[in-house]
Amino acid sequence: MNAVGPATDEIPLARPVLGEAEEGALLEVLRSGQLSLGPHVLAFEQAFAARLGVSHACAVSSGTAGLHLALRAAGVCDGDEVVTTPFSFVASANAPVFERARPVFADIDARTLNLDPDAAAAAVTARTTALLPVHVFGYPADLPAFERLGLPIVEDACEALGAIHGDGTAVGGRGHPAVFGFYANKQLTTGEGGMVTTADAAVKAQVDSERNQGRAPDMGWLDHDRLGFNYRLSDLACALGLAQLDRLDDMLAGRARAAALYREALAGIEGLELPCEDSGGDRRGWFVFVVQLPRGSDRDATIRALRERGVQSKPYLPAIHLMTYYRETFGHRAGEFPVCEDVAARSVALPFFPQLSESQIARVAMALREVLGR
Ligand SMILES: *Cc1c(COP(=O)(O)O)cnc(C)c1O
Repeated sequence: MNAVGPATDEIPLARPVLGEAEEGALLEVLRSGQLSLGPHVLAFEQAFAARLGVSHACAVSSGTAGLHLALRAAGVCDGDEVVTTPFSFVASANAPVFERARPVFADIDARTLNLDPDAAAAAVTARTTALLPVHVFGYPADLPAFERLGLPIVEDACEALGAIHGDGTAVGGRGHPAVFGFYANKQLTTGEGGMVTTADAAVKAQVDSERNQGRAPDMGWLDHDRLGFNYRLSDLACALGLAQLDRLDDMLAGRARAAALYREALAGIEGLELPCEDSGGDRRGWFVFVVQLPRGSDRDATIRALRERGVQSKPYLPAIHLMTYYRETFGHRAGEFPVCEDVAARSVALPFFPQLSESQIARVAMALREVLGR
């Protein structure tokens, strides 16, 4: 993430907060000699579950692995349909495909950029066995509306640590299997890693077993009562996660501060759309700061011009149904999901991380004003 840019002080897109606490935690595990299946796995899981107010958490090797196991635990299998959003990181759509199920896309809400509950309801068929909403850019998806559809739900909360629903529940704390990701740009990082939260002890048992080769807790090493994977998270990574959890509130506050400064600095640029404000009690867990460029502006040229001014940015996110694999495998084409396609064509992620300084934000804003004003 810490791209080594030109000698000038290029402002990176993302940068994790890592310090002595993380170094100490890693050294302790290194010196213990137990790098995997050690005590930090359970400790990280318990601290994470407590933080969200949910009964169980299962540490896994990535958010993608967590989505795979959560969908298996929800019973998704061959020939099923899973209704989900085309405006997400590709992993949420790929996960059903791992089980030979079909991701069925529905369009997004233009304000929140999350799966639109009405569009999702219209996409449900007799073969639909699960809904897979994504809390995109950390903004809570409308879970109460999805819950009314009466289908099993798996939540992709990989971008939404720290987000809160209008009724006060933490995103990922409503009891459905919910999946978090700990890649280096996320709110909390373990380098690579993920977590599945659930209120259901049976889901916890199945995910714990399937991440570890299908081994039951009371079975010996070399016996397996089901198919499994190696989706374990190492003790090193879990120790890092615990240290990060200790500073999570500070890191979330740092992101929220940066977002507020961006709002001020970018106010009044004609046609530029900023991330939606919190509404109805829903609270975003800030992950990225994505703006939508004014209609008619040239995004690639804008990104190049920002780069020349020492500001990293990138198109974020592309529409999944228009990716080559999805066009070729599922026959998707442009025009199917107009809201998603419009947003995806105009979205640009700006530098965003907890320690982004006020002067860096001012530089980004000045560069963007200059480039869009040309
Ligand atoms: C980060 C992310 C994931 C998981 O990514 P991994 O790299 O597998 O941890 C899944 N879905 C979304 C929406 C994400 O942003």
